Amino acid sequence: MSAARREAEIRKHQQKCLNFNGIMNDRCRAGIDYDEQAGGPPALKKLPCLLRMQDPDRAVACPSAHYPTREEAEAWREESSRHIREWAEEVGRGVCPNCKKDGRWRQVGRCVYCEGCGHRIYQGTLPDSKKPPRHEPPPLPFNSRFYDVPGESGMP
Ligand SMILES: [Zn+2]
Repeated sequence: MSAARREAEIRKHQQKCLNFNGIMNDRCRAGIDYDEQAGGPPALKKLPCLLRMQDPDRAVACPSAHYPTREEAEAWREESSRHIREWAEEVGRGVCPNCKKDGRWRQVGRCVYCEGCGHRIYQGTLPDSKKPPRHEPPPLPFNSRFYDVPGESGMP
């Protein structure tokens, strides 16, 4: 991960209020009613929850707006990086990141699912280690008739 991308993610995180929980909810974590605060929908262009979404000409102030400090945003970034590394490491070992079991996985369309817990693990193809064993035909029974060697039949 490049330093520029890390910096961009930290700055983006600092532009999101810590109380924001998505406008599918009526109220944010601080109890602010999104529509009421904005004076009606569409709220996001007026509210300062996501500064990058806000239209400065229609902005309204929020008494509960709280943005992560630089230190909080860096800590969030390190935590999410660690989480992604752990997730990738578990998938690499064939362990489901959801149920933590090394069980069977299944390809469903473009995604890979854990058969144990039913969760989608990732979008992509099933690794070779998780593919069901190929059914090879059983070996043919040994037929000594084909392998008789003169002089070795036990007869003098
Ligand atoms: Zn699972």
